Amino acid sequence: MSSSTTKTVAILVAAGRGERAGTENGPKQYQSMGTSTVLSSALQPFLDHSAIDTVRVVIHADDHSAYEAALSPAQRSNAKLLSPVTGGATRQASVHAGLKSVADGSPHHVLVHDAARPYVDAELITRVLTGLEHDEAALPCVALVDTIKRVEGERAVETLDRNQLFAAQTPQGFHFPTLLHLHQQAEKAGQSVTDDVALAEAAGITVRKVEGSARNTKLTTREDMVAANNLVPDVRVGHGYDTHQMVEGKELWLCGVKLDHSHGLSGHSDADVGLHALTDALLSTIADGDIGSHFPPSDPKWKGARSNQFLAHAVTLVRAAGGTITHMDVTLLCEEPKIGPHRDAMRVQMAEITDVDMSRISVKATTNERIGFIGRQEGMVALATATVVMGATP
Ligand code: MG
Repeated sequence: MSSSTTKTVAILVAAGRGERAGTENGPKQYQSMGTSTVLSSALQPFLDHSAIDTVRVVIHADDHSAYEAALSPAQRSNAKLLSPVTGGATRQASVHAGLKSVADGSPHHVLVHDAARPYVDAELITRVLTGLEHDEAALPCVALVDTIKRVEGERAVETLDRNQLFAAQTPQGFHFPTLLHLHQQAEKAGQSVTDDVALAEAAGITVRKVEGSARNTKLTTREDMVAANNLVPDVRVGHGYDTHQMVEGKELWLCGVKLDHSHGLSGHSDADVGLHALTDALLSTIADGDIGSHFPPSDPKWKGARSNQFLAHAVTLVRAAGGTITHMDVTLLCEEPKIGPHRDAMRVQMAEITDVDMSRISVKATTNERIGFIGRQEGMVALATATVVMGATP
């Protein structure tokens, strides 16, 4: 472990455009990953590690606002995190820019990490730092699982000795003056490499192999991004409540089904208390107001309206926000009529309106034991929950 007098900086390289992961949401390091972002996840273990003194992120000149937006509030105010610097046209130029930006502080050690590796952890950082006690450079390596072939054109021509081959990861660790010097020399010589350890290898510097981490993969493709999102799902549970008065001679609509009954519910629309509660539960998952703010009862347009369209609109909003509805549950509180015989017809209706499988839709009912306004059959109540997973589908 580095002693307390050893100054150690971490440089995160986040200047890439990440085109293989799809660019419509911007570079992958700024994309969301569950409740966090790729950059924020990659950064946190370095901010948390007691042996890292300062952290610098190297970004693209166009990405200042994306960078700010990708950090958590606690990260933005973390004194260890220096303001970002602008990188160059290549990864190598970006690392060099990062090194120069911290050179004034005369750090002893530097770790260089790809911002697109969000699964780095404290143990891995510690192993790389420990490696630097023995050698001037340290590289986390993982053994290859697959048999490796050398291929010429369309022909496999040779099986390579897997025991001699490893995949190189980051963070790669260096004595700071050594890496800065290597980058200066490479720039002068026009030498171009894809990782920092390649510079050390070419200069004959001993690079210590330390154990990498199988989890510490680099997010590269769109599939990687989807998998990252699904690993720490952003699950939202919304709740809704509604009540309407029961009056004689009105139509009774419950959960999209018209029931034969002496009394119905009164309201501006068809007063389907079940669909209203569910609409609110869905709007709640995206924090987008309530049924009244989308369909004001003051608007004559909604007089006598079927509540199907309220529910369908909430579903559209949830999906537009990137949500996948995984479960919906409605509880009806009334003395009469009996709901049980109509339960499945209601589930079929709700499945049709929402395009969610019936197996994910629950309708329950209970009487109120003849107590209160529900017990006196002056009104009905509906309670609903909706469960939504954000960003789960590609
Ligand atoms: Mg209502």
